[in-house]
Amino acid sequence: MVSSEAAPYSKTGGLGDVTGALVPAIARLGHDVTLVTPRYRGIDVGGHAADRFTLDLGGIVHEVELLETAVAPRARVLFVDHPPSFDREALYGLGSADYPDNAMRFALLSQVALRFAARHGRPSVVHAHEWQTGLTPVYLARDLHWLAPLSGVPTVFTIHNLAFQGLFPPETLVAVGLDRGLFTLDGVEYWGQMSFLKAGINFSDAITTVSPRYAEEILTPELGFGFDGVLSARRDRLVGILNGIDHDVWDPARDPLIPAHFSARDLEGKRACKAALLEAFGLPAGADALARPLVGMVGRLTDQKGLDLVARVAEELVGLEASFVVVGTGEWRYEEMWTRLAARRPERVGVTIGFDERLAHLVEAGADMFLMPSRFEPCGLNQMYSLRYGTAPIVRATGGLADTVTEFDPATGRGTGFRFEAYEPRALMVAVERALAAYARPAAWRTLMKTGMRQNHSWDVSAREYVKVYSQAVRGRSRRAARRA
Ligand code: ADP
Repeated sequence: MVSSEAAPYSKTGGLGDVTGALVPAIARLGHDVTLVTPRYRGIDVGGHAADRFTLDLGGIVHEVELLETAVAPRARVLFVDHPPSFDREALYGLGSADYPDNAMRFALLSQVALRFAARHGRPSVVHAHEWQTGLTPVYLARDLHWLAPLSGVPTVFTIHNLAFQGLFPPETLVAVGLDRGLFTLDGVEYWGQMSFLKAGINFSDAITTVSPRYAEEILTPELGFGFDGVLSARRDRLVGILNGIDHDVWDPARDPLIPAHFSARDLEGKRACKAALLEAFGLPAGADALARPLVGMVGRLTDQKGLDLVARVAEELVGLEASFVVVGTGEWRYEEMWTRLAARRPERVGVTIGFDERLAHLVEAGADMFLMPSRFEPCGLNQMYSLRYGTAPIVRATGGLADTVTEFDPATGRGTGFRFEAYEPRALMVAVERALAAYARPAAWRTLMKTGMRQNHSWDVSAREYVKVYSQAVRGRSRRAARRA
C-alpha cells in the first residue's frame, strides 16, 4: 500500500485515518501488509533501516532510506526518509500555497514504494491512495526495467476525494520520468494539464472510492469534476466501499482524550464531557447550559463542508435555543465568520481555529448534535465518530453521509440522525429544528443516542470488501495472462 498520510503518524484529514486503520484491518484478515509513506518532520519512529538505495527521477539522482516499524502482527509501515522532500513544516504546503515541487515529492514516494517491492519479493497487489500516489500504477504499467520483478502485479487505486486532482504543467511528465506519449485523453492529460488523479484512474486494474453513494455521484457531471466521462468509461472497475472507523481510537468507553467515559449501556459520563467541552471553549457550564442542546462542528471550513450554506443562515442558527462549538481551519472568510459570531455571542458560541486532535475528540464526546451540511462528502468520518459517541449527526444527504445516517422518527424511535436533501439554507434550518424538537423529548433522544452508538462501522466489514477487490484484480490479471499464453 502507498499513501501520503497514515494516522497516527501523519494526517490532514480522512485519508490519514483511513490508511492508518485499513492496514491493520487487512492484516487481521490474515494478509501481510506493507504501507509505504513519507517520513515527515517530527515522525520519530525509531524503526530499523529496511533498505537504502538511490533512484533516478527525471535525471536527478536521489538517495533514500526506508525505516521500518511494525504496527500490528503482519502489518508494517515503511517510512521514506528523504529529507529534501519530506522534512518540512507541513505535508503539502503552507497556508493555501502548495509546495511547488509536490509533483516530484510524491512521484518519488510512488517510485520508492515500487522499488522496495521489486527488491524484496513480489506483493500480490499494489494499492495506491489519492492523487499523491496516482503515478504508482503508471510506473508499473510502463514495464520499466527495474520493475521487471513486479511484472503482472495488479494495482488498485482509491479515490478519497475527486476534488483533489493533482494538476501540474505538462512538462511535469518528463520531470517525473515518464514519456510525453502519455499526454493524451486516455493517458494523464486533463484540460491541458497533467493529472496524477487521472493517472491513477486510467492505469489501475480496479478503482475504489469511499462510499457506495459517492461511487454513483462521481459518474454525474455535477459531482464528477470533469472526470465523470473517464470514470463512466471504467465504471465496470469502479466500486464504492464505505470507510470504517477505528474502534480503538474512537471509543467513548476508553478514549484517553476525554475526561469521562460512557457507553450505550451507561450514558452518565457524557454529561461530564459536555461540561468539560463547554468549559474548554469558555462557555458557561451551569445547569442551564447543560440542559441546552449543544451543536458541534469539526473539520475543514470550506465550501465542500457546507460553510457557504452555514454562512447564509449563521445569524438565524446562532439565534436558536442552542449552543455551538466549532473546531476547524480553512478559508479565511469562514474562520473570520465563526470568530465574529463567537465574539458577538460569547455565552453561546465557542470557536477554536486550528487543528486539534484532543478537541476533536472532546467535541464528539460532549456535543449533543454534530452538524455536517456538506455540499458533497465522499465518505465523511466525523458523522460516524458522532454516532459512536451518542452525538446525533445533522447531515446533508450526500455521499457517505447519505449511506451512514438515517432520519430519526420520534414516533417509532427508528433512525440515527437528521438529514436534508436540497443544498439550501431553509432545508438546513428545518433539519436543525427537527433535531432540537427531538432533543426536547428526553426518552426519544436517549433511544436515538443508543441506536447510533450501536451502529457497527468498524473496519473489519470494509476490509473484507477491499480484499474482495484485490482478489478480483489478481484473478483478472491471471485470466489475461492465460489468454495471452
Ligand atoms: P476530510 O474531507 O477533511 O477528509 P473527513 O470527515 O473524512 O473529512 O475526515 C476528517 C478527519 O480530520 C476527521 O478525523 C476529523 O476529526 C479530522 N479533522 C478535521 N479538521 C480537524 C481539526 N481542525 N482539528 C482536529 N481534527 C480535525
